[in-house]
Amino acid sequence: LITIIAIIYIMTRERTEHDTVQMDRRLELEELARDLDKKASTDPLTGLANRLKFDELLSREIEQSRRFQTPLALILFDIDHFKPVNDTYGHAAGDAVLKQFADRIANNVRGVDLACRLGGEEFVVVMPDTDIDYATAVAERLRQCIAAKPFLLDDGGRELDVTVSIGIAVTSGPNDTVAKLMERADQGLYRAKRDGRNRVAAEAA
Ligand code: GH3
Ligand code: MG
Ligand code: MG
Repeated sequence: LITIIAIIYIMTRERTEHDTVQMDRRLELEELARDLDKKASTDPLTGLANRLKFDELLSREIEQSRRFQTPLALILFDIDHFKPVNDTYGHAAGDAVLKQFADRIANNVRGVDLACRLGGEEFVVVMPDTDIDYATAVAERLRQCIAAKPFLLDDGGRELDVTVSIGIAVTSGPNDTVAKLMERADQGLYRAKRDGRNRVAAEAA
């Protein structure tokens, strides 16, 4: 009887150890998957969401906006005369400006809004349940927040004034699409550039 009990005890212990190892391995794999998912959706320079994440989120948000009949706003940013920043002060200084730009935007929007880097010196904020008046007020505040304080170019204390042009679009009705919304935000941005930069332009549907 003692032998049988000993065998059962050993087998149970081995089974428990085996289960613990399996569980550890599963947790490790889950963590790895989360890590990969985060990397795939993050812009490495600024830490903001990247284009991939933006596309995914915008499709989901426009669907929500249609279903609940709430407006969805897009604020599109393009830093003014950014090429000369690189040309004059170097690529590292350009990168430093992009990082600070991203921080200023991300720190000045609500928790429900998503700030993304679309690529280069172009950024976007997706604002769920937001009408044109509120989006315009936020965009104007962000524009001022960029223009108000110079950007650090390096550790040596060199500074540079930076401005940004901004286009805004808000969803209109159940037939609006991601493509149409982006197109209107782009047109607003184009108008802001054409009218002299460092300004906000909203494009009506
Ligand atoms: P505009 O006012 O019309 O927007 O002029 P711009 O000079 O900002 O526009 P343009 O599209 O000519 O220049 C964008 C520049 O952004 C070109 C490129 O050198 C720079 N750029 C794009 N990606 C990066 C990046 O990751 N790091 C740095 N430092 N520069 C970048
Ligand atoms: Mg550009
Ligand atoms: Mg630009």
